[in-house]
Amino acid sequence: AKRNANEPEFMQAVREVAETVIPFIEENPKYQGKMLLERMVEPERVIMFRVVWIDDKGITQVNRGYRIQMNSAIGPYKGGIRFHPSVNLSILKFLAFEQTFKNSLTTLPMGGGKGGADFDPKGKSDIEIMRFCQAFMTELSKHIGGNTDVPAGDIGVGGREVGYMFGQYKRLRNEFTGVLTGKGISFGGSLIRPEATGYGDVYFAHSMLQTRGKSFDGQTVVVSGSGNVAQYATQKATQLGGKVVTMSDSSGYIYDEAGIDAEKLAYVMEIKNVNYGRISDYVKKYPSAKFVEGKRPWEVKCDIALPCATQNELDEAEAKTLVANGCICVAEGANMPSTPEAVTVFTNAKILFAPGKASNAGGVATSGLEMSQNSLRLSWTSEEVDDRLKVIMKDIHEACVQYGSDGNGYVDYVKGANIAGFVKVADAMLGQGVV
Ligand code: NDP
Repeated sequence: AKRNANEPEFMQAVREVAETVIPFIEENPKYQGKMLLERMVEPERVIMFRVVWIDDKGITQVNRGYRIQMNSAIGPYKGGIRFHPSVNLSILKFLAFEQTFKNSLTTLPMGGGKGGADFDPKGKSDIEIMRFCQAFMTELSKHIGGNTDVPAGDIGVGGREVGYMFGQYKRLRNEFTGVLTGKGISFGGSLIRPEATGYGDVYFAHSMLQTRGKSFDGQTVVVSGSGNVAQYATQKATQLGGKVVTMSDSSGYIYDEAGIDAEKLAYVMEIKNVNYGRISDYVKKYPSAKFVEGKRPWEVKCDIALPCATQNELDEAEAKTLVANGCICVAEGANMPSTPEAVTVFTNAKILFAPGKASNAGGVATSGLEMSQNSLRLSWTSEEVDDRLKVIMKDIHEACVQYGSDGNGYVDYVKGANIAGFVKVADAMLGQGVV
């Protein structure tokens, strides 16, 4: 703890895992005396680098780039790249640590990693984004590779940025490999990858609801965020019969009592993915909806909540409001969106609660499927990929039930996900000796 005292998000993520994994280790001699958790919290390697680029005014800009190569026990490092001004070592180490457990849960051979830069993409021109991505990849390319470390997108990094980074990698290395996932379909990307995290979150929530004889049909759903994960969670929840009434960004949330249907969601996608604009623009086209500035959507009454924006975006008071308003299911689409106090509120109330490392694993799982397709030099159809995604989310749900069920009908998905994720990585580390 002392070593990482100035890394609050990392400490938060480790504490949550330790609370469930340490008692498990104490019950299982096989995992004792090998410093397994102690090894897992120490990244195998951290790379920090200067990223220099020139903006449209001709002014030289300097950012800091990172890649955390956390754990390669079960496969090449794998995890997204985040471009956001808040990016620092603590946030990326928390994400890389979570990623190791998540990737283990997918059942695919992927280790854990994460990277990014404190670069703010907001307001940047397309050319500036390209120059930044190229400068970032110029250094990163020395440390990654299809069999070593395979980055992907995350906050601030979507298909456009992955494409620019892939192009630069190819130019520098003179090789066409599946070194990044989330690529465009014309150059090795997988169908359903853009949809996968949001769809997977809803598939996972569906499995949870089924354990209580319920479904999305006729339920009111509150979604936060309006980026990649939020968009496709909204789409799938709507397709399954739910009514999504909110979406948000860092400036506030929109509330549409009638529901954000397919046509309205297409408009959100235009605002966010084409114009790189603000969610508040929604009410210009749909004036019956309202924009609530500077607030988060958890005050809206709902049956199901899908936090899909960022870490620590749902606190204890908001969790209490959700429970008091009758919310029965919270499935995290983002990474660690609920604070530890909020998680305690959900578990005490015994509502269905899924931590991101289980419920948002569909994204990286489909990235794993993209890696397989690249290696085979084949492309699977949307149906094939979606079917595999459904099976993987169901398997993750079952693994959580296996390790998280209290035997009286209640499933602690936090405990289940942590232990199931731990077991596979720990077994691989034990098998490989002290390396
Ligand atoms: P996007 O960049 O596409 O969207 C992020 C959304 O969250 C935007 O609406 C953004 O609003 C909002 N947001 C970001 N930072 C903040 C903040 N500090 N406060 C309030 N709102 C914020 O990212 P993704 O949809 O890809 O990622 C969302 C979450 O899901 C992250 O936690 C990510 O790690 C996680 N995730 C993503 C996966 C993927 O496949 N993309 C896979 C697994 C997890 P604004 O535009 O105002 O910044």
